[in-house]
Amino acid sequence: MSIKIKPLNPEKRQSCPEEFSFGVTFSDHMFTQNFEKDKGWHDALISPYHSLMLAPSAAVFHYSQEIFEGLKAYRNSDGGINLFRPEENVKRFNRSAKRMVMPEVDKSLHLEAIKKLVNLDQNWVPDQDGSSLYIRPTMIATSPKLGLGASSSYIHFIIAGPAGSYFKEGLSPISVYVADEYRRAVKGGVGEAKTGGNYAASLYASEDVIKLGYSQVLWLDAVEGRFIEEVGAMNICFVYEGKQISTPALSGSILPGITRDSILKLAPTLGYEVTEQRLDIEQILADIDSGKITEVFGCGTAAVISPVGKLSFKGKEYVINNNQTGAVSKHLYDELTGIQYGTREDKFGWIQSI
Ligand SMILES: *Cc1c(COP(=O)(O)O)cnc(C)c1O
Repeated sequence: MSIKIKPLNPEKRQSCPEEFSFGVTFSDHMFTQNFEKDKGWHDALISPYHSLMLAPSAAVFHYSQEIFEGLKAYRNSDGGINLFRPEENVKRFNRSAKRMVMPEVDKSLHLEAIKKLVNLDQNWVPDQDGSSLYIRPTMIATSPKLGLGASSSYIHFIIAGPAGSYFKEGLSPISVYVADEYRRAVKGGVGEAKTGGNYAASLYASEDVIKLGYSQVLWLDAVEGRFIEEVGAMNICFVYEGKQISTPALSGSILPGITRDSILKLAPTLGYEVTEQRLDIEQILADIDSGKITEVFGCGTAAVISPVGKLSFKGKEYVINNNQTGAVSKHLYDELTGIQYGTREDKFGWIQSI
């Protein structure tokens, strides 16, 4: 199947504005394709960005059969455009689809759709330091029926919009609240899938901690409330003595981040030791108190590396590295973003240029 392109008239095309807010400004075009049980995927199309029309009874509105992805296109130093490990995102998209009983997409068609869309909307890839074009592949269940069961029709779409640098004045640490009362996901549930329901379930606690002056929630396992899982939309790493990086092992309820995986592969080549294991919150807090843990950082596509300066648990606050960005966080941030923007050698073959 090939992708049809119906572009906007050239005089109607726009480019990335000087000022924009992440997540509310979108590029000129979008990709869509439709699925019906008897026809499979069909009508792959890149057309002007538009609203979707769905029946109020569409399954996605009632039972949250929905998945998404998030990746970025980076303007590289010679004016070209880089994608970072996009095939990992499509693999995860299909794993999420399977878990949510949705049809998988053709991986090469999905990647081609991203490349064609970014190429058509290349004027939307910003070039300020640390900025990028954020790409949001999504799939929703559209069958107009309230009866419970997997939908028989779906829309797969891809939209894109500019994202500024996450840290306008250099890397700065965030404050994180360890959830004591609420849980994000349970083993056997859908925590491993990138599905909207996980976020709906976590909103209450996230809004709650913002009122207390924290920007993110750190989630503990749902069974014992003891083992560290992840932070908001990021995975989490702990640095021991400035040289060993420890992150929770994937548990079945942690979202397997591509940034996390990239750090596990990259860090050993930079002289760090990495471990994946079950991390007990009490032990972690004791290691922060004793100074064995020298840095904590979150990792995900949005911020790449987000240093954590404070952790709050059960009414006590733990300060890490004097609430300053540490050398390891900075080093990994520089190396990873260097690969993404093409200023560092891409030893792993992670970059696909458009
Ligand atoms: C997307 C996401 C991450 C980070 O994944 P990346 O592939 O590194 O962007 C971590 N946790 C959750 C819950 C997520 O949705």
